[in-house]
Amino acid sequence: MLRLLPARVLTPPRLLWASIMVALITITLKTLAWYITDSVGLLSDAMESLVNLASAIFALMMVTIAQRPADEEHPYGHHKAEYFSSGFEGVLIIAAAAGIVWAAGHRLLDPQPIQEVGWGLALSVISSALNGLLAWVMFSAAKTHRSIALDADARHLVTDVWTSVGVVVGIAAVAMTGWLWLDPVVAIGVALNILWEGAHLMWRSSQGLMDEAVEPDVLREIQKTLAVFDHDTIRFDHVNTRRSGQRRFVDLHMHMPANWSLGRAAAVRTSVEQALMRAVPGLRATIQLLPSDVEAHFDDPRDLL
Ligand SMILES: [Zn+2]
Repeated sequence: MLRLLPARVLTPPRLLWASIMVALITITLKTLAWYITDSVGLLSDAMESLVNLASAIFALMMVTIAQRPADEEHPYGHHKAEYFSSGFEGVLIIAAAAGIVWAAGHRLLDPQPIQEVGWGLALSVISSALNGLLAWVMFSAAKTHRSIALDADARHLVTDVWTSVGVVVGIAAVAMTGWLWLDPVVAIGVALNILWEGAHLMWRSSQGLMDEAVEPDVLREIQKTLAVFDHDTIRFDHVNTRRSGQRRFVDLHMHMPANWSLGRAAAVRTSVEQALMRAVPGLRATIQLLPSDVEAHFDDPRDLL
C-alpha cells in the first residue's frame, strides 16, 4: 500500500485528516456496539476513541497553526498554539472518563445482562483493525517526514487498539462466565487509562505556558557546543533556555576582551550560532556580546523584585 502511494501523497496534514475521519468512524461503530449490547465496557471503548479524535485534531493544529511562519503580530511564531488545544482536549478527556466512571458505578450496583455479544464484539474488532492499519501507515510516514505530530498520533492509535483488545476479552469473559460485574470493572479500568491521558495533556499544557527549560539532553548539547569556544578570551554565562511547542530557544552572554573590534566579535558569534544550530536542529539562539568585565543590567538579580 505504501509503495503504491508516494510520500508526497501521504503528507502529514492529509494523514491527520484521515486519522480524524477514522476516529469518527470508530466512534460511530463503537457507539453502535454499545447501543446493541448495552455493555458499559463497550461504551468506555467508544469514549476512548474520543481521545483519538482529540489527539488527531491536536496533531493537525500542530502541523498547521503551530508551523505557520512568524508574522508582524506574532514575531516569535505560533508554536504555543498547541498548548491551547492540548489543554482544552485534556479537559474534554477527563470529562469523558468521569462519565464512564459514573455509568459503570451505577451498573456495578445494578448489573444488567449484555445483549447481542457477537455483534458488539465484531463491530469493536472492525474498528480496531481500522485503527491498527492507520497506525501502521502513519508510523512509516512519520519516519519519512520526521514528523513528531504523526508519530504521537500513531502512538495514540496503538493505545486505543490495546484498550479495545482488553474490552473485547472482558466482554467475551462476561458472556462465557456470566459474571456481569466484570463489564463495569473493565469500563472503570479503561476510564482510569483515559483519565491518565487527560491528566498528561493538561500537565503538558501547563508546563508549556510556564516557559519550561529545554530537555536535559538538549541542554547538554548546548553546553558541549559552547565549551568548544570557551577559552581564556571568550566566556559564556547567563545561559537561559525555554521551549515553545516544537521550537527551542536559548539566550546567553558572550563575554570577550573590550578591545576587540565589533567585526571580530560578530565573526566569532556567527561561528557559535552555526555550531549551535548544527548541534540542536530548530534551535533559536540570542547571543548578547559584552566586554569581559561588564554585565547587562537586566540580568541584575535585584531586577527580579
Ligand atoms: Zn554575563
